[in-house]
Amino acid sequence: MKVGVFSSKPYDRQFLDAANGGRHRLTYIEPRLTAETVALSDTADVVCVFVNDQLDRAVIKKLSQRGVRLIALRCAGFNNVDLAAAEAAGIAVGRVPGYSPHAVAEHTVALILSLNRKMHRAYVRVREGNFALDGLLGFDLHKHTVGIIGTGRIGMTLAGIMRGFGCHVLACDPSPDPALERLGGAYVDMDELLARSDIVSLHCPLTPHTRHIIDATAISRMKPGVMLINTSRGAVIDTQAVTAGLKSGRVGYLGLDVYEEEGDLFFEDLSNQMIQDDVFARLLTFPNVLITGHQAFFTDQAMSAIAATTINNISTFEDTGRPAHEVSVERLA
Ligand code: NAD
Repeated sequence: MKVGVFSSKPYDRQFLDAANGGRHRLTYIEPRLTAETVALSDTADVVCVFVNDQLDRAVIKKLSQRGVRLIALRCAGFNNVDLAAAEAAGIAVGRVPGYSPHAVAEHTVALILSLNRKMHRAYVRVREGNFALDGLLGFDLHKHTVGIIGTGRIGMTLAGIMRGFGCHVLACDPSPDPALERLGGAYVDMDELLARSDIVSLHCPLTPHTRHIIDATAISRMKPGVMLINTSRGAVIDTQAVTAGLKSGRVGYLGLDVYEEEGDLFFEDLSNQMIQDDVFARLLTFPNVLITGHQAFFTDQAMSAIAATTINNISTFEDTGRPAHEVSVERLA
């Protein structure tokens, strides 16, 4: 099949070419897919897209007019696709449901440990010959309580790791998994999770129900000085509300791998430009905020698995008319 790979970087080419083995004709397109760039798909049957490509109704209509029959997401989340519009246009949608929960869960732990022990500050200090410890005081994770919102593949993997640190684990999920209790964790409702957790980590998908699930009200219910971590999708957090929480001290630490408006920032080298997003720029001024640019998935193992599943989705679509891992409109219900 002819595949237009949007938002492609050299590392995407490396892993996709290896997985493809020459079966499909892959064309690498650097820009993000938007209404303005849709024509770059040329005569492709399939568009292969990532987290910040825009697949709204208007773009899907244009893709359909160009003869595109499959949207192959090379990620787990599908919040950026208007599934109803795709279904109406007769375009199938495939995704990569679970490539490596370890990649994201381990990055979450990296954010927790770095924020707690102030690695981002210690690194700079020592390089400047400043060996003072003032301001670097951390806390033992042992016996502290971690609240996990969403215990799917990633949330459950994180639960296991944090139990290894000797933490208490609380969780909430509309589809509880008995595996959590076997790990020694407990399901509680959201209000109780927020009230009892020293660390709150988000691992639910972004849906209309979870958009701004962490807002000013949720923050007011958290323990003063709470550590808030988000490696799921930016818009599950109301960034303005968290900024207010940081200013008041209610939020003691913030670790983000995702950001509501990351589409204009992440995955690009903007080091010679002025950041125009004042909300993001304000976040960068806090010493107790650590942000990575959507890199939690970025391990060798995860990239190999993403490429293999993406190519498999395209191949099964060619063979059967359906991708192996299809996203259907009911998933949003
Ligand atoms: P998953 O589908 O296995 O698990 C998601 C869980 O969230 C499910 O158990 C679901 O029941 C639960 N959930 C849904 N609504 C909820 C709510 N309102 N409150 C609490 N829980 C809720 O997904 P996963 O593979 O664990 O991935 C989780 C999310 O992580 C993805 O949706 C994606 O957005 C994000 N992600 C980020 C990266 C990254 O690089 N930062 C990489 C992969 C995935």
